Amino acid sequence: MFYKQINFIMKKRSHEVLFKNVIPSKTNKDVLPDLLEAGDVFKLENGVYGFGGIALELFDYFSNSIKESGFGLGATEYLYPSLISVKSIKKIDYVRRAPEILNFVSHLNFVSHIKNDADIVGSFIERNKDAENKISMEDDVDTDFVISPATCLHEYCKLQNTDLILPEEKIIVGGASKCSRFEPESSEYSLGRLRDFTMREIVCIGTPKEARAFIKEAFLCAKNLLRVWGLDSLIAMGDDPFVIKQSRVESDDFLEFFELKYELKATLPFNESKLAIASLNYYKDFFGKSFNIKVNGKVAHTACFAFGIERCVYAFLSQYGLDKSDWPKSVLSSLKS
Ligand SMILES: [Zn+2]
Repeated sequence: MFYKQINFIMKKRSHEVLFKNVIPSKTNKDVLPDLLEAGDVFKLENGVYGFGGIALELFDYFSNSIKESGFGLGATEYLYPSLISVKSIKKIDYVRRAPEILNFVSHLNFVSHIKNDADIVGSFIERNKDAENKISMEDDVDTDFVISPATCLHEYCKLQNTDLILPEEKIIVGGASKCSRFEPESSEYSLGRLRDFTMREIVCIGTPKEARAFIKEAFLCAKNLLRVWGLDSLIAMGDDPFVIKQSRVESDDFLEFFELKYELKATLPFNESKLAIASLNYYKDFFGKSFNIKVNGKVAHTACFAFGIERCVYAFLSQYGLDKSDWPKSVLSSLKS
């Protein structure tokens, strides 16, 4: 009964377009081969890339542009780590709840260390001395960290078990971190879907009223950024494959979880697809409950505005190409060189 209700709501609302920025593209060619040849992007492994040259210039441009928007929304800036403890991940049921959570768990990249025992170290070395692509863990390792799949989780960890007093402690933060998501459904990664990527977020922790006000302001900010960046793009009501694909929903957490989710999608002209470059999410009290964060004695509500920086670069170059004379003035004027 409840599942039917969710399905109906998701069908009705997902993909509804709320804003469009229509810009003619300068090229319809996939820029990745040219970027690789120029050395501006280098591929280390499938899904693991590094940036230099104009790709790095744009990376810094988009990152700074989002950081500045965060300051405009009142954010304090932080640099977050890439690792998050299993203990923290368990707080949001990443590990326990199945099968609903299965897709999320399978995205996690685990970080393990060998147990501190000479015999175990010896057998590990012996067993893996000829290993080429994969190391056999067996029972020799403990996994106490994962590479975080999102930046905002670090902020919730930082604030766990606190009761913020407003208005003095109104919390809006901005920050970036390296994140990682394993993609079991796709054997081929690209610049639009990396295993190791940079997420920059602006996060609000506050009362329901503040979280909703933040979403409103962030939505205006999103429209402004897409215009300034000159991206052919749209903002649509989001869905999440995690919710859509599952056949069973046991509690109303999930409906609450996705009360509001907007996705910023940019056009990739070479294959006429849309690439999600950011999402704006209102999680209500999900993280407040999970991490025991309170505001004036009541469970905190949270909202976050999250960007995949490499995706922004890829979408921009896919629309404008590598020749800077074709790039919009609003972007060129902010580049250092
Ligand atoms: Zn987030």
